[in-house]
Amino acid sequence: MQPAPRKSVLVFRELPPDQLARLHAAHDVIVANPRKPEQLALFEQALPRVQGMIGSSYPVDAGLLERAASLEVISSISVGVDNYPLPALRERGITLCHTPGVLTETTADTIFALVMATSRRLVELALHVREGRWNRNIGEDLFGWDVHGKTMGIIGFGRIGQAVARRAALGFNMRVLYSGRRDVQAPGLEGKTTRVSLEALLAAADIVVLTLPLTAETRGMIGRGELQAMKPGAILINGARGAIVQEDALLDALNDGRLRAAGLDVFATEPLPLDSPLRLHPRVTALPHIGSATHETRHGMAELATTNLLQALAGERPAALYALG
Ligand code: NAP
Repeated sequence: MQPAPRKSVLVFRELPPDQLARLHAAHDVIVANPRKPEQLALFEQALPRVQGMIGSSYPVDAGLLERAASLEVISSISVGVDNYPLPALRERGITLCHTPGVLTETTADTIFALVMATSRRLVELALHVREGRWNRNIGEDLFGWDVHGKTMGIIGFGRIGQAVARRAALGFNMRVLYSGRRDVQAPGLEGKTTRVSLEALLAAADIVVLTLPLTAETRGMIGRGELQAMKPGAILINGARGAIVQEDALLDALNDGRLRAAGLDVFATEPLPLDSPLRLHPRVTALPHIGSATHETRHGMAELATTNLLQALAGERPAALYALG
């Protein structure tokens, strides 16, 4: 049998050595991260001749696609596909793959860490100790509020939303509401979750958690009106994508005391600009987009993305194909 033809692959974000070796074994590989100024020229030179691309956290827009005339497959090392021009990919017949599932539990852990950190003021109080300000028993001004027994409202009740719900309902005895386009029977949560309208969720939840994709429909979905509709003193956690929340409206809701706190893993602009008022806000716990950032999970994502790319370039159906419709 003839060996499969070698193709050219552009790796636009670092891959672990074992996964890079899998690619090298089958194809010609160019590693160039366009986020690094010294690698941008190599990335641009490679674009016109590559059949495959693998990476993440870089906006692949329609203009970039035009410069990638031979492209057949993009394998994203992420579950979210908001960095890709879906209609242009569909039109060109380019296959898009992503990494659902392998990051679900880790991302839910991160989101729950933000629930705990904001509710119990963990970052603020850890700094209190570190900076030598713990010189007497803390007073009421530094107390937090309980997480157990509260009501959590989850917007985007997919894989990650359900994994957060399991932590909340089964681990913390929380009442869980969700809003979405359909009724979801979440495994392990029979009778423990209730689907309500977005308005009802915002009005009832002590902690609102965002776990939905960034799409044309969800961009800016949490704005002034939605934040005003939240229960006074509630907490907002964004573990999805920054642009789902209107950040200026969020700042106002924090500053006028409407919200108790916000826990944010994602921002409209990343890395978060140094002059963003969210960076130093006393009631914001900000993380540098670490939802899936553990050694095990990032490796699992790289492995799945590499498998996807190898399968797609070989003309097979990839393990995790993103349906472009
Ligand atoms: P998923 O299983 O596809 O779940 C997404 C859920 O959002 C689905 O239930 C979907 O409902 C719902 N949804 C979509 N549009 C909606 C809308 N307009 N209103 C209400 N609900 C809507 O995806 P996942 O694996 O849980 O990941 C969710 C998102 O998390 C990803 O897209 C990514 O952006 C983000 N994420 C962030 C990190 C991080 O590092 N912070 C890590 C991983 C993922 P339908 O079934 O009706 O479509």
